[in-house]
Amino acid sequence: MRFTIRMDDITPGMNRGNFERFRRLLEAYGVCPLIGVVPECRDPMLQVEEDDPAFWDMVHGLREQGWQIAMHGLYHIYTTRKGGLFPLNRDSEFAGLSLERQKRMIAKGKRILSSRGIETDIFMPPSHSYDRATLQALRENGFRYVTDGFGTAPYEYEDIIFFPIAARKTDVMKQKTDGLTTLVMHTNSMTEEEFRFYEKLLKTGRGLSYDAWHREKKRKQTAAGHAREYLTAAGKRTVVRLRSYVKR
Ligand SMILES: [Zn+2]
Repeated sequence: MRFTIRMDDITPGMNRGNFERFRRLLEAYGVCPLIGVVPECRDPMLQVEEDDPAFWDMVHGLREQGWQIAMHGLYHIYTTRKGGLFPLNRDSEFAGLSLERQKRMIAKGKRILSSRGIETDIFMPPSHSYDRATLQALRENGFRYVTDGFGTAPYEYEDIIFFPIAARKTDVMKQKTDGLTTLVMHTNSMTEEEFRFYEKLLKTGRGLSYDAWHREKKRKQTAAGHAREYLTAAGKRTVVRLRSYVKR
């Protein structure tokens, strides 16, 4: 299976050492990822270092190199305990809020990015959670793409095109099937083992730059397909919860 990479939680206060190390790895293999930039980060969990004053210039530089940028929420603060349409987690910045409020939040995020000279029509929902109102708010604010859902081909759902993610990162190693998926990276907390895993994966030559998604054949998401995806996400959450219960 071919794969693209998305990097979450890109903020002025991120772990710069890990980010730079992973960036060098991607550059060595000629792979340009999608980065999820938080318009105005207020999440203390993402404040790993002092804010980098050169952060926004760096983002512009990456874009010029061919990196793609997604809007990763607004403040990256979870306001509800709703899993929404893709319930991988039970926290959300958006799912469960009124349409009006979601429209205001998404418009605000877009304005903040614009003021930094960044325009994008790709959305990366924090904690993978969004609901129908989020999708409507996105459409009304000119967003066309969401990086989420499970799968190996882009699909259309509620007039938004989804570029899906891999349910398990090891699937990409094992399966010989065709198709394209996205691996989700959190460089803030990346371990040595993960660096080794990704290097091995990139060596296979199956890693593509994120714009490859635009060349893939789209399919329509059916009600059955959505139900399957919903159950996989809910099932994964249950497994994770049970595991952490056992550990405790
Ligand atoms: Zn995030």
